[in-house]
Amino acid sequence: MMNEPKDADARRAVEPVICYPVETLPSPDLPLYHEARAGAELVDEVLVLRREAAAIGVPAGHFLRMQSVDGPQVGDLNLFAAADLAERFYSGKTRALHGTHITTGDRMWSCFPYLRPMATVLADTLNWYGIDASGGSVHDVIGTRCDPYTARLLSGDDYHHCCHSNLTRALADHTGLPLNEAEAHVHDVLNLFMCTGFTRDTGQYFMKASPVRPDDYLELFAEIDLLAVLSACPGGDCSTVHSSDTAACYPLLMQVYAPAVDALEGWVRPQVSAYSRTHGR
Ligand SMILES: [Zn+2]
Repeated sequence: MMNEPKDADARRAVEPVICYPVETLPSPDLPLYHEARAGAELVDEVLVLRREAAAIGVPAGHFLRMQSVDGPQVGDLNLFAAADLAERFYSGKTRALHGTHITTGDRMWSCFPYLRPMATVLADTLNWYGIDASGGSVHDVIGTRCDPYTARLLSGDDYHHCCHSNLTRALADHTGLPLNEAEAHVHDVLNLFMCTGFTRDTGQYFMKASPVRPDDYLELFAEIDLLAVLSACPGGDCSTVHSSDTAACYPLLMQVYAPAVDALEGWVRPQVSAYSRTHGR
């Protein structure tokens, strides 16, 4: 490079510093959650059809299992506070706190001005995967969700079963909101089972065939009353293409488990942020 300074290598060699050390975050009581889960009972379930989405309520203290059935399939998950759609999952802050991909013990945080754990990952049958040689890993909070706007931009065609549209229809059906109002609540997702990373040479977002197989699951503990909306991505296992009907696609199963009475004694729901919101005025 023409403009490279003499001390370029020295500047590059500076050690990185973690932006958000998480040691001071309140840590979830995983043993208590596991104990409660052991005595929990299935109370609700819904099958998310391929290239569609479905919604399910998950009361605080309950467990949401999202499971692969039939074949390798990735899912795009939106989370809302059941009582207020304005409080929703904040993928960017979750990424800043826990990293590009989440697994057991990580939390899913809500947006400003709430910023509290909405859910805690209690179990992940793909946590053996780690970070592969390409820099790929599973369950990312870096992708946005496949959507018809970007598809149109890149291909010139209208496609109606992108996760963004699937989530919009499912949220509209569940809440009774008109489609365009429901759409405004759809947000960046947890990419369930999706295997992704950034290329080392160009820094581009990549995907590769998901290692998920039938019976694999990710399980969340609901820290607050939740509305979960999950789309079975038209990308299938995301090994080749998305935003079309080309890829082989399979359904996903959502199940809600209720803990036994008193199983969560001592557990308290996280409160919304205590920040004054005066912003210095
Ligand atoms: Zn998708």
